Amino acid sequence: MIYLKTDEEIELMRVSNLLVGKTLGELSKWIAPGITTLKLDKIAEEFIRDNGGVPGFLGYGGFPATLCVSVNETVVHGIPSSQTLREGDIVSIDCGAVVNGYNGDSAYTFAVGEVDEKVKHLLEVTKASLYLGIEQAIEGNRIGHIGNAIQDYCEHQGFTVVREMTGHGIGKKLHEEPAVPNYGRRGVGALLKSGMCIAIEPMINMGSRNIVIESDGWTCRTKDRKPSAHFEHTVAIRKGKADILSSFEFIEGESKQ
Ligand code: MG
Ligand code: MG
Repeated sequence: MIYLKTDEEIELMRVSNLLVGKTLGELSKWIAPGITTLKLDKIAEEFIRDNGGVPGFLGYGGFPATLCVSVNETVVHGIPSSQTLREGDIVSIDCGAVVNGYNGDSAYTFAVGEVDEKVKHLLEVTKASLYLGIEQAIEGNRIGHIGNAIQDYCEHQGFTVVREMTGHGIGKKLHEEPAVPNYGRRGVGALLKSGMCIAIEPMINMGSRNIVIESDGWTCRTKDRKPSAHFEHTVAIRKGKADILSSFEFIEGESKQ
């Protein structure tokens, strides 16, 4: 069952996603060599609660934290810990918040200090692929248009697309139908209709696309331990152009996407 949201519900979704964007912006000030991933989690939880929200991931399916913090070869679902960020790391921060019963969900991969040129390219390509996917997230297209745009671009840049993890519908529940794969064929999958809200979240690897789930049951890492990047926006499907409900503006400033 795919739930179409009313305009009023989409405005509520914008509020929760705006809080997620502001939380990521707050975290961007703290990301530096020496900080632990658990400290970032505490900052995020306090920030969300101080601004009238509830962490969306905490307790979801038993997840123990506010953030998924995924360093270097960790693809997604890293559990905050005493792990310290180091110069040259990349760290994906995935954040969810609930306000007025609606979920926000967005992720950004940050460079910690100066990173290797090839790693920087992985970040640029993964973020660009997110926006290429969003361009296809319009009424009348199908889910496959989104994944195809992401896969085609990333593979042409020499990177690989994780298959086992996907984006998703989002609303009152964090994960709703449909699944939004980052690969696929144009014209295949559910028809996109105005009012559908989906989270698009390419997970792109530098080496092989294969992943492993660690024994904690959450941490998803690349099998070859090469770096992986992850960017995510929550968007509402509209005619002609998707409405991006989350925001990187608090990380990057208004001049960039
Ligand atoms: Mg997310
Ligand atoms: Mg998500």
